[in-house]
Amino acid sequence: MTTLASGRRLGPFEINAKLGEGGMGVPADARDSHGLCGERGSSKRVAVIGAGPSGLVAVKELLDEGHRPTSFERARGIGGVFRFDEEDGVVWESCRLTSSGLLTAFSDFPVGAQRAGHMTAGEYVGYLEEYSAAFGLAGRARFGCEVETVRRAEGDGWRVIWREAGGRHEERFDAVVVCSGLHQHPHRPRIEGLESFAGETMHGSRYRRPEQVAGRRVLVVGAGESGADIAAELSRHAAETVLSLRRGVAVQPRTMFGQPKDLQISRLLNSPAEWIFQTRHPADDRKRTAYRWLFLPFVALDKLLQLTYRYFWEYLPLLRGGDRREILSNLRTRELTMQLLAESGGTLNEQFGTKTDDFVRAIADGRCRQAPGVDRFEERRVVFSDGSDFSPDLVILCTGFETRMPFLDEATAAAPRFLHAIHPEIGPSLAFVGFLRPAFGAIPPLAELQARWVARLLSGAAALPPRTEMEAAIARWQRRRAHTFRAVRDRLDYLVDHAVACDELAARIGCKPTRRVLRGESREIRRKAVAGPFVAAQYRLTGPHAKPELARRILSAGPVMHPWPDRANLYLRWFLSRTMYRLLGDEYPPKLDLEEG
Ligand SMILES: Cc1cc2nc3c(=O)[nH]c(=O)nc-3n(C[C@H](O)[C@H](O)[C@H](O)COP(=O)(O)OP(=O)(O)OC[C@H]3O[C@@H](n4cnc5c(N)ncnc54)[C@H](O)[C@@H]3O)c2cc1C
Repeated sequence: MTTLASGRRLGPFEINAKLGEGGMGVPADARDSHGLCGERGSSKRVAVIGAGPSGLVAVKELLDEGHRPTSFERARGIGGVFRFDEEDGVVWESCRLTSSGLLTAFSDFPVGAQRAGHMTAGEYVGYLEEYSAAFGLAGRARFGCEVETVRRAEGDGWRVIWREAGGRHEERFDAVVVCSGLHQHPHRPRIEGLESFAGETMHGSRYRRPEQVAGRRVLVVGAGESGADIAAELSRHAAETVLSLRRGVAVQPRTMFGQPKDLQISRLLNSPAEWIFQTRHPADDRKRTAYRWLFLPFVALDKLLQLTYRYFWEYLPLLRGGDRREILSNLRTRELTMQLLAESGGTLNEQFGTKTDDFVRAIADGRCRQAPGVDRFEERRVVFSDGSDFSPDLVILCTGFETRMPFLDEATAAAPRFLHAIHPEIGPSLAFVGFLRPAFGAIPPLAELQARWVARLLSGAAALPPRTEMEAAIARWQRRRAHTFRAVRDRLDYLVDHAVACDELAARIGCKPTRRVLRGESREIRRKAVAGPFVAAQYRLTGPHAKPELARRILSAGPVMHPWPDRANLYLRWFLSRTMYRLLGDEYPPKLDLEEG
């Protein structure tokens, strides 16, 4: 018998029936060809801190590799950020994921057709409960246990001290995997007069439902993903909603042509060199000029294909359907989106993207007013950087979260990590999973690849490169991040490119779908693996704990989201950038490739 984290017990048939919901069928082939236990016998006792998506997948992958994990979770159940809790939670009642189910799902547990779009936080926790039940993870968790201290044990291993209702306890583990999350500690900015402001203030993580704002004048500060969604919801319920933005924002709608926009993230989209069109760093100007001159006729064709794509798939839909008011609202929303991007300091791919444009529409339709950054608070009013002011009843600070690990010493918690997971000096006995965020994409599949890799490092099936090599790689990634994400280079040090980070981890595990692997697949699977959504299942086609049949089923169910001019355009750029690479060498690498390693 298996127990859901909500406390309800599921019988084996009920589990199967639940897994079968949604049209993708029971993943009977979810068990890998190696069986649940790794072959190497180097089984470790591992403490996993946190039972959010990262903690759950870490426990599952550790079990798969033959380890003995125990997870500690301070909340009463699984789900992490997405678990709705009136008092201690982070999300609001109507919160919906910004990443699609197809992209957010773990590699060997499909979400099913009904949840392939944008799930509510509650639906996603339901998915995690099913995952937990299917792989027997609940029995590994100790809920209501907060880890207070993690320190080196004498000899080998780690001492873990945790607190629960019954008191404080200590236990020794061979290894610790930290999965305590990027979004657990609200960040409250320092703004002059904020502490003495006479109206009510709260962090966005305390917002629960519209009744809190009904009939009130509300100021929302910040339009990260929470701020953007909260401002859009408030604009339908508050007496007045003002959204304060210090700078512009890179905005993408959640959906396009009725499909989640993130399904456009594909290997094909990421195959050309990124400097060709994704980023605009001035240091790349020389490369772009060389590219234009070398391939002049092809570049003209490239432009033509782009225009065709834009005309039919971006501009025409703005004019379609609805009445005149709706068309005007569409046009104004697009214009504002472009304006916000222009004020953000970079292109769409050079920063973290806000994956919803509902708040832009609220501004376009006059339900929400945009204001500049807050300069100071004065008793009952807020003064903006342009001198204008507003007197809100309530201020909601959607000013993000701080990454904190109070159970570790400061130096260890803050040090940069190899593949965001391993401290080069400490090695795999203290690993970190889930401390990276894709600019566009989803955290759980990245956490899954980190967990697979860490589990193999601990069992000895994989080895770390020498320390100097890891340090050099960290320095290289830091330079690359500052280059690629130049619009946010002084902030967000955990930002990664979803596809690139996935492939780097997969190469370490040995599960990357390389040219050699894809050659053995059917034409349909090759097409989906290249031009279909960048789903995690592609990393189960080959390598340790592969589940090729399940992977093929998931891959073939995904749509190809690039209409023909876009597809032709991307293949052309892929071909041209590879030609540049062959002609001119290492300075011109493609962003993503299908090579080994
Ligand atoms: C409003 C909102 C919407 C989001 N939407 C998306 C989305 O659509 N797609 C996406 O990919 N990401 C989204 N994110 C990011 C999201 O945080 C991560 O995807 C996800 O939560 C990562 O899971 P995690 O397990 O790493 O961290 P968390 O979900 O934060 O889980 C960490 C867990 O560790 C526990 N914990 C922490 N410290 C301790 C301790 N000392 N002892 C014991 N337990 C501890 C916490 O209680 C928590 O349960 C969103 C974030 C927010 C705030």
